[in-house]
Parts: sequence; C-alpha cells; structure tokens
Amino acid sequence: MRKVLVLEDEENIRSFVVINLRRAGYETIEAGTGEEALEALEHHPDIKVALLDIMLPGIDGFEVCRRIRAMDNRIGIIMLTARTQEMDKVTGLMTGADDYVTKPFSPAELTARVDALFRRTGGEAEVLPADEIYQPPFRLNIRNRTLEKNGQRVKLTQVEYGIVRLFMENQGKALSREEILDAVWGKDYFGELKIVDVNIRRLRIKIEDNPTSPMYINTVWGFGYKWGG
Ligand code: CA
Repeated sequence: MRKVLVLEDEENIRSFVVINLRRAGYETIEAGTGEEALEALEHHPDIKVALLDIMLPGIDGFEVCRRIRAMDNRIGIIMLTARTQEMDKVTGLMTGADDYVTKPFSPAELTARVDALFRRTGGEAEVLPADEIYQPPFRLNIRNRTLEKNGQRVKLTQVEYGIVRLFMENQGKALSREEILDAVWGKDYFGELKIVDVNIRRLRIKIEDNPTSPMYINTVWGFGYKWGG
C-alpha cells in the first residue's frame, strides 16, 4: 500500500485531501500538528510521501520538514503553501522539501504531484546502465542512490540525487532549466522553473567547496546549468 502522511490542522482541508488521495488509491495517515506528524512517521516507517501544511499550532511545517530531513532523506515532501506566501515556496525547498502545492488546489493537481513524487522516490523499478559513475572527487552509486565526495557521503534528497545523476551523465554539456525539470520532475510536472534554481542552490551548498563560486555546477547565463568545465 502506498502511504501518504497528511499534516494539516484545518479539518476541512485535511479531509478534502484525504478523500481525494484515498480515491486515487493511497493510504493516508492524518496529523493535525507537527508533533503528531513526527510521531506518525515513527509508527509508520513505510510512509513514502508527506504533505506538510506550514501554518500550524506548535512547531510549523518548515520545522517538521527540517526534522524529517535530519532523519530521512528518501521520503518525498510536498509543502502546502498559501497563495499569499510566495516566499514560503523557497523557504520550504531550502529546508528540504521536494515540491509545493499552492492552496487552493484541485484534487487533480494534488494527486498528480503525489503520483510524480512517488515515481521519483523509487516506487518504480528502473533498468540501470551501470552501478556507479565515478568523476573525481564524486562517486555516484546508482544502485544505492548515494553520492560520495572524497569518500565522504553527501546526504541528498531524491530530487537532488536526480539532478546530480543527470549532470554526471551529461558532463560538460549545458542543460537548460526546462531539460532539467523534464528529466528530474517528469514531463507531466506542471510547476515552475524556479524550483530548478532553488534545488540547485541547495545542492551547491551541499557539494561545492565554495557555493558562492561554484566549480562543479556552473551557471550558463540565460539558459541553465552545466556540470564541470
Ligand atoms: Ca494551517
């Protein structure tokens, strides 16, 4: 069963989300506070995707996201943001979320995002061309979906892993933001290109020696990004 955690303190929104996810074939675990959500994750380690509202009584959705990421990089996280809180999207992604949905959202939009994240979090088997890609100082293990830099593990989210893999498979090639979005988020993803930039920014902090003057992920102005020289 594909399990989704739904953290939302407003009951009518939560039941709207839950009903629609169940209709789409998901099992849902509900939480009304961040504390309940973290507890639910302990009891259900098989939860693959978490939907996190931001404004909550007690700890907020960003803090929940941070605490989940401190324990688990594999779970998919979607933030539920309010239309008026544009900055929430960036903040949410910087704390480790994979995606965000702006309220009010349609059931179709929500389930499309959850479906896409399930595919990316490794729900579907894929044929692997090689076990690893080694481009010093990086070693990408495709079987385990892990990255090492100088032999040290770099903790990546599934989205970050997808971006690094795309880069390493296309060393030295300029990739447009659209190409990156299609390859990592999927062609059916209907979010904004900005999500690419935010994830790259986060990734640079994790892998660059000096994120403000990157050596590995280079910006191709007005186009996109390039891995290596
Ligand atoms: Ca709320």
